[in-house]
Amino acid sequence: MHQKVIEIQPLISRQYLVEGENGYLLIDTGLSNNYAHIINFLERRSISLSSIELVVITHADGDHYGCLAKLQAKLPSMICAASEIEATAIRQGKSSRELKGSSVFSPIYFKLTAPLFISPSARIDRILSVGEELPYLGGLEVLDSSGHTPGHISLWSKSTRTLFCGDSIWPKGKHLSPSTGANTWNQQKACLAFENQLALQPDRILAGHGHWRRD
Ligand SMILES: [Zn+2]
Repeated sequence: MHQKVIEIQPLISRQYLVEGENGYLLIDTGLSNNYAHIINFLERRSISLSSIELVVITHADGDHYGCLAKLQAKLPSMICAASEIEATAIRQGKSSRELKGSSVFSPIYFKLTAPLFISPSARIDRILSVGEELPYLGGLEVLDSSGHTPGHISLWSKSTRTLFCGDSIWPKGKHLSPSTGANTWNQQKACLAFENQLALQPDRILAGHGHWRRD
């Protein structure tokens, strides 16, 4: 089995294309203004948009699903999937949780960060359940990595020891951290998700805002 993983260079967040038998899986879409960037990226690599058969959204923050509605408009046949909780938020163009301590932040802070939390609502066709397996990279298991948001999911390929973790793990160089701060829905769960995923002993961690490889 040789299936490629292609990282789409970031505008704030990273997206990943995973090659399957009949088409690609796209993990997350980036901000709504990421559309041209994705289309150009695919064109440069001679990958047609129609070869994306499935989109999985790790969680309902705008920097992860903001561009989904535009991609769907261009390619209505694309199947889009998320966990139940995150799907409900995406269908409403919202985030699945509020910023903690919102009263202490100034209106200017909200103005600057609003695009990260509010996005055009989008269609979700398929609800993913924890434990189910998608047919990529020898089997991509859906993991519960809630904490950053209440329905956050990761995808884990045991055979290639590859973990797509969205915002549940934050790599910085060799250092890895859990989700923390005002945009973390539940700190205790975020730490648990972090530990549970590292216990799987991944060889590469492909996150929403960085990546990490075991030496
Ligand atoms: Zn993010």
